[in-house]
Amino acid sequence: MRIAGSVTLHPRAERRLLAGGMWFTQKDIKRVNVTQDVALVRVSGKNLPDGVLGLWEKEGTVPLRVFDVNVDGDLEGVVRKKIMNALTRRRRLGVTEWGSFRLINAEGDMFPGVVVDVYEDFFVCLFHSEAAATFADIIQDTLSSLLHLRHFVFRKGSRVVKRSPGFHSPITLAVDGIQYTVDFAEGHKTGFYLDQRHARRYLTSIAEGKSVLDCFSYNGAFALHAVAGGACSAVCVESSAELCNMIRKNAGLNGFSHIRVIHGNVFDVLNHLNNEKAKFDIVIMDPPAFAPDRSSKIPAVQAYRRLHHLALQLLNDGGLLFSFSCSYHVTLEDLVKSLPPSSKRWIVYRSFTQPEDHPYVASVPATHYLKGLLAGIES
Ligand code: SAH
Repeated sequence: MRIAGSVTLHPRAERRLLAGGMWFTQKDIKRVNVTQDVALVRVSGKNLPDGVLGLWEKEGTVPLRVFDVNVDGDLEGVVRKKIMNALTRRRRLGVTEWGSFRLINAEGDMFPGVVVDVYEDFFVCLFHSEAAATFADIIQDTLSSLLHLRHFVFRKGSRVVKRSPGFHSPITLAVDGIQYTVDFAEGHKTGFYLDQRHARRYLTSIAEGKSVLDCFSYNGAFALHAVAGGACSAVCVESSAELCNMIRKNAGLNGFSHIRVIHGNVFDVLNHLNNEKAKFDIVIMDPPAFAPDRSSKIPAVQAYRRLHHLALQLLNDGGLLFSFSCSYHVTLEDLVKSLPPSSKRWIVYRSFTQPEDHPYVASVPATHYLKGLLAGIES
């Protein structure tokens, strides 16, 4: 961990930083005094105090992220403190009782570029920035001593950069009472979507006797939760053949025989199910981020309109639609607006967002990425 140079901000960007802003683009930057493309840098400006550090990533969509505003030289101490604060926050909120939880949620825990998920005695750390990856050793030491975690894997995107000697993947583990095979080395993001925990628990609580369609299933977590709650059947639709096999494996691990897995594109499969006049009591739409940037918002909302239209045709009378967006640019309002016109009335019963172990910062709106609704048609 070394400070490799400095980046100077324009006065307007300085003011934003002093008001809590953490992300800065090229237009905010007045001068760059660092030769490396990726580095930990000092952030300077006319009115900025000493001790402001940033993660510099020249080619990144957000080239400068504030790492800390008060570093007095002891960088390792700063990293340790960030981890301890994240743990204290979760203990205060009762999250550590869950067994598996997100311990560090990047900006939401004032630790940009770093995400850490904990599962019993194991952790997986995902770096979103090459500069943040230089913290691997200190993160490993701190987590081992604070939480007595024995195994770990560090990833930068889809590449494993470091793993504990005894680490093997995929592994079998339980999250909220459901058994899963999880591939922490190859799976999406950190390997498991812990951010849908509350929605899944809620689904378990209302699934008794229901038929469920779980679209964009990944490892089948929604379908598995529904069956655990007494659903009479569940159908998963997933475009990755490998993930389809994983869902079957997960169903087997839990002894659930009435989960059907359909390998295919949700848009095609739902058309096909409609032609067959299939009906469900609960339809879940949890697609990948359709709008990674602002420019893709319009097509993303159109895709939701198509999905909701298909769902409407597949729902029984009194049926329920869960629909989620994990793109910051597609808001809860957009989801509501993309419920298709119907002779009856859509009623939105409740909404969902990130759980308390995925906190977001008010000054960086893009960190509030997950939202969802539960709606039904009523006359
Ligand atoms: N619902 C999951 C997470 C979904 S992630 C959970 O609770 O953990 C989105 C998933 O959709 C991925 O597994 C991806 O492979 C799948 N996917 C993406 N596009 C798809 C499409 N057009 N049809 C079917 N599956 C798709």
